Amino acid sequence: MTAEPSTRVMTVTTEAVAEAVRCLMAGGLVAFPTETVYGLGADATNARAIARLYDAKGRPAFNPLIAHVHDAAAACDLGKLDPVAARLAEVFWPGPLTLVVPRQPSCPVAELATAGLATIALRVPAHTVARDLLAAFGGPIVAPSANRSGHVSPTTAQHVLSDLRGRIDFVLDGGPSPVGLESTIVDCIREPALLRPGGLPRADIERVLGHPLADSPPSAEATDEAPIAPGQLASHYSPRTPLRLNASSARAGEALLAFGEPLPLGSDRALGALNLSSGADMIEAAANLFSHLRALDALGAPAIAVMPIPHTGLGEAINDRLRRAAAPRPDV
Ligand code: AMP
Ligand code: MG
Repeated sequence: MTAEPSTRVMTVTTEAVAEAVRCLMAGGLVAFPTETVYGLGADATNARAIARLYDAKGRPAFNPLIAHVHDAAAACDLGKLDPVAARLAEVFWPGPLTLVVPRQPSCPVAELATAGLATIALRVPAHTVARDLLAAFGGPIVAPSANRSGHVSPTTAQHVLSDLRGRIDFVLDGGPSPVGLESTIVDCIREPALLRPGGLPRADIERVLGHPLADSPPSAEATDEAPIAPGQLASHYSPRTPLRLNASSARAGEALLAFGEPLPLGSDRALGALNLSSGADMIEAAANLFSHLRALDALGAPAIAVMPIPHTGLGEAINDRLRRAAAPRPDV
């Protein structure tokens, strides 16, 4: 009989925060209170931890995650804040506002967390527990709401446990989240636009901007379960090299994205081959997906042959992403 994996729960103390930091550093998943809702935190630079996070939530797609940082200076290390974004940050951080900005070239956040996009969503939370955790951890923490995909966002440690007990490592119990609504998301890539209404009222943002926020198309509204559709994300990541999905063999000169063992026929004739996971481990495969695609794309092969990936667990999200990357796209 295998033991149920256990989730530790600790009421917030200095020791509990230190324990949560140790857990994050070891690649663990830690739920913690923010002023909006409880977040499910992982080290934003650790692709494997992020793959576990998607798995724990049961998300059918790799929606980009919000990176939480301690202050605006730390945000500027990850993303480029133009004067408008910097002004919103100055007025509303710490607080329930997320800004979507271009990624810095040196941004250490794992590509899996930003779904391979050239943009990154950033927030400086106001809740003291979240702030203490970020200060002690000393790096960015990605934290989607700590619920199973399709369920409502949790505002207490009990809500988190009823959804995720046994699927995550640690819960920091800091009482109910005061705002109880997700953060407001503003796209600062173009004309500032409201991507998701949330805890910070639109009017407060417009007062600072001195003009109305642009409207994003209704279908482009980012919510947890209905993220911006791929075609609507202007910077949606796709390799330049065409993808040949469900390939049972590699053709001479192609690049090969393998999964499991044995390698398919013709792999010795491939221009280059990378295995998502030779042991067929879905979490390892998800963690490697974006970096492997990018490395194979750089080879300049006529195509990337992709071996079939089982549709189980994270396989659903991996296949969703591969299908999107393989879809023909209009030239820009
Ligand atoms: P949650 O995971 O519940 O915290 O929700 C995060 C939301 O932020 C998702 O709906 C994402 O679509 C949105 N988001 C995160 N990063 C980006 C980005 N780079 N561009 C647009 N939306 C983003
Ligand atoms: Mg959510």
